Amino acid sequence: MKTEIVNGIKRITCQILIVGGGPAGGMAAKWCAKGGLDTLLIEKKAEIGAPLRCAEGVSKSWLDEVGITPDPTWIRGDMKGAILKSPDRTTFQLDESKAGAEVGYVLERHLFDKALVRDGIAAGAKVMMRTSATDVIRDKDGKLIGVKAIEYGEPIEIYCDCIVGADGYESQVGRWAGIDTKLKLNDIDSCIQYRMVNADVAPDYCEFIIGSEAPGGYIWIFPKGNGVANVGIGVIGTEAKKKPGLAK
Ligand SMILES: Cc1cc2nc3c(=O)[nH]c(=O)nc-3n(C[C@H](O)[C@H](O)[C@H](O)COP(=O)(O)OP(=O)(O)OC[C@H]3O[C@@H](n4cnc5c(N)ncnc54)[C@H](O)[C@@H]3O)c2cc1C
Repeated sequence: MKTEIVNGIKRITCQILIVGGGPAGGMAAKWCAKGGLDTLLIEKKAEIGAPLRCAEGVSKSWLDEVGITPDPTWIRGDMKGAILKSPDRTTFQLDESKAGAEVGYVLERHLFDKALVRDGIAAGAKVMMRTSATDVIRDKDGKLIGVKAIEYGEPIEIYCDCIVGADGYESQVGRWAGIDTKLKLNDIDSCIQYRMVNADVAPDYCEFIIGSEAPGGYIWIFPKGNGVANVGIGVIGTEAKKKPGLAK
């Protein structure tokens, strides 16, 4: 990674620039650096993994598939399976193999995200926090050659061979690069989640409730041990529009 001042602006040059320090960015940083590429990850926030925007459930087979070794430091609960409640409250209990992508472990997600970025750093990637990409840079032929960013309030430019837009659901990098990233309202669920204490929940089952309380989505209760649970609801945008205040 080369850093210089050009026309009064800090200019960084690297091979791979990853925008975003979530799980996608952390994994990309690790594998690019392991492959010997000069890799820089930028993250706009001051802390990796915070604030939490996740129910923290993850399937063990998915971790295995992407080569992540389970680590007790970021695991809060080892699930036996899922409890599904249908609209008439018929209850099914499924073992973990049939319970879906969000059942396996309940994570301490901020520690999980930090561990992935730390793996990237250990592999040789550089990380810059409080550095927010604000636009792409193109050469005179329109080819993408970098991004403009703000680092601790100061404008900088980062030139690279490849940009990885790992900036999550709010991704702008893809849009700036000319990719149609628009989603329809009925492809988006609006969610709210609380971390609850003294929750009377099954300690090793993730619970999903489907029905009119959560049109087009579901309610989830993911236990984190000692009566602590992530309790949330997701409602599909089009239904929420039709039924402000939700259905009875
Ligand atoms: C309510 C809710 C519950 C969920 N529950 C689960 C669950 O139980 N299990 C599960 O597997 N998934 C769950 N998800 C989805 C999961 O959180 C996402 O799929 C996952 O976080 C995506 O990872 P990512 O690395 O692509 O993006 P993110 O985790 O969103 O990371 C993107 C990063 O990019 C940074 N960034 C954005 N813009 C810029 C910029 N311009 N410059 C620099 N940095 C930038 C952000 O600050 C962020 O750190 C849930 C999501 C929500 C909203």
